[in-house]
Amino acid sequence: MLDVVTALFTHSDCLDHITPPGHPEQVARLRAIGVALADARFDGLRREDAPLAADEDILRCHTKEYLDRVRAAVPDDGFVSLDADTHMSSGSLRAAYRGVGANIAAVDMVLGGDVANAFVACRPPGHHAETAMSMGFCLFGNLSIAVKHALDHHGLARVAVVDFDVHHGNGTQDLLWSEARALFCSTHQMPLYPGSGALQEAGGHGNIMNRPLQPMSGSAAMRQVYDGAIFPAIEAFQPELILVSAGFDAHADDPLANLNWSTEDYAWLTGRICDVAGACCGGRIVSTLEGGYDLHALAASVAAHVSVLMERGQ
Ligand SMILES: [Zn+2]
Repeated sequence: MLDVVTALFTHSDCLDHITPPGHPEQVARLRAIGVALADARFDGLRREDAPLAADEDILRCHTKEYLDRVRAAVPDDGFVSLDADTHMSSGSLRAAYRGVGANIAAVDMVLGGDVANAFVACRPPGHHAETAMSMGFCLFGNLSIAVKHALDHHGLARVAVVDFDVHHGNGTQDLLWSEARALFCSTHQMPLYPGSGALQEAGGHGNIMNRPLQPMSGSAAMRQVYDGAIFPAIEAFQPELILVSAGFDAHADDPLANLNWSTEDYAWLTGRICDVAGACCGGRIVSTLEGGYDLHALAASVAAHVSVLMERGQ
């Protein structure tokens, strides 16, 4: 019997964030992940219900005015649109509080030494949400809030973030721009939504590292930029914890983008993140679901990602 090394945080409330018909960020995404992770090879996961965040957690990164505006917008039924892409149903706010709470609880559990790493499978995603603005299917900066929690609550000195979602994490960049204790590293397709993430966007303290990738650039270009630039920068930074914005929409089958990564690329990338975490911070990783819109590719890629976290956390 192997030790339990990987926690999985999710919650049925995250199925109650319902988006309009045809919207790519749909309930079926989380159901597909749930089916994939119900396989016997994931029996060793420590399965945790995502707790609700407290308001003060959200206020680590967002303004009170914004939180009040989101809360006031929740509809009794049907949908309300916060922007062109981001919609709320009656269950959306509770789902979003689960996502923030799960990221915080995962950080607590990993820093407490109960598990080596954790994966958070909640929705809505978070990496496009800015300080006072929803964007791109995202309400709150789940991962950035967890970064601030690790720094301010646990007293860590350095936290690194890897964002391999195919879209630039403009929200994470906004929330961590002036945070010298955090190193935010992102690969993303360019040109593509949201349009930010150029090489020269480097943060208030040189703490942002953007490496845009060309459409159709594929596996080799991805591996080169991680091994040649991003992982050396993280190793030089010597983080005490690594957080991952795990979007799986760079997959070749994804309908929203064209980077042409394979399921095996996600296994490789996860393994290399585990290498770096092993060298810097005792393997401590918290990974959180962002995008990924082809249901089969998403389920297979999440399974590959979580499998490697389980194997390499030993
Ligand atoms: Zn994305």
